[in-house]
Amino acid sequence: MPRAYNFAPGPAMLPESVLRQAQAELLEFGTTGASILEISHRGADFMAVAQKAEADLRTLLAIPDDYAVIFTAGGATTVQALLPLNFAAPGQAADYVVSGHWGKTAIKQAAHCIDARTAASSEAGGFRDVPARSTWQLSKDAAYVHVTANETIHGVEWREIPEVDNAPLVADFSSSIASEPLDISRFGIVYAGAQKNLGPVGITVVIVRRDLLARAGQPRAPIFDYAAQAKAESMLNTPPSWNWYVLGLTVQWMLDEGGVAEFARRNTRKAALLYAAIDGSGGFYRNEVATAARSRMNVPFFLHDAALDKVFLEHARQAGLVALKGHRVLGGMRASLYNAMPEAGVQALVNFMQEFQSAHG
Ligand SMILES: *Cc1c(COP(=O)(O)O)cnc(C)c1O
Repeated sequence: MPRAYNFAPGPAMLPESVLRQAQAELLEFGTTGASILEISHRGADFMAVAQKAEADLRTLLAIPDDYAVIFTAGGATTVQALLPLNFAAPGQAADYVVSGHWGKTAIKQAAHCIDARTAASSEAGGFRDVPARSTWQLSKDAAYVHVTANETIHGVEWREIPEVDNAPLVADFSSSIASEPLDISRFGIVYAGAQKNLGPVGITVVIVRRDLLARAGQPRAPIFDYAAQAKAESMLNTPPSWNWYVLGLTVQWMLDEGGVAEFARRNTRKAALLYAAIDGSGGFYRNEVATAARSRMNVPFFLHDAALDKVFLEHARQAGLVALKGHRVLGGMRASLYNAMPEAGVQALVNFMQEFQSAHG
């Protein structure tokens, strides 16, 4: 089978040129006489890779100088566990605004050591919308306010993350970072696992305003200390060097393609194309998310008859469209349309959906 259009939610599709470069450099990296998998993370060759990746990421996301960028293993879930340890006092309150599955995960990872409060939630409505700012019940003593910019499973995205004035905003941007311009200075912390929109699984980016690193937090092992990690340039121990390298290639590719403003245009067009096909199907396909909160990155949709799901997935696979099965929490289908998914892939999906409807409608 040739390379398919891969709609996986993460690990997700990577640009072919990135994969080809990684392949070409796998056996021998530069003049090292070794693979990048085999060289020291503290040697000059890898240090140059790591520093370029950070510099390019700062350019891509317009990260202000008063923010540190930390590269770590452990995924976004580990960040959710380390946030309260680093930025809240034992038992202190933190406010969580929940618009889907990952907002709940963030609370679960924090609740054992802080007072993780649900300030607002759209769960009662099945996570088909974001909770309106007017419903948020914020605490005076909160260490931070946590939001999920884009809920990857429920397909719910904040078009505009509301302002808060009680505490710094901490935002999980795992599935929408670099998908459009973002004003980082509105946030205390922005974090993202790389495997959705920044590169390969195995590395996570934490962008943190430096003054927050001075917070005492609570007892933790040195390896879990973000201030120490920032000071050591993310090399307290061996970092995931291969993943860091592939992230760097992916970020370079995004810059070469025109940066986040260009991806914002592409992502808007791609999402509009797919939602129009769903909405124009006369009920054969449906998406249940409130129009204004529909994600540009992850589009869950359902066939009018779930008995057709299996044959839809099998025929899609034969047409070179893979990984469309929905998350087990929701069922149905889900198409993830990250930066590496070309418009032609979405057009191919829409064409397939229309043909499938003609054959089975
Ligand atoms: C995938 C995802 C996570 C979990 O990421 P891991 O790297 O698997 O820990 C958290 N939040 C969001 C929004 C995600 O999309």
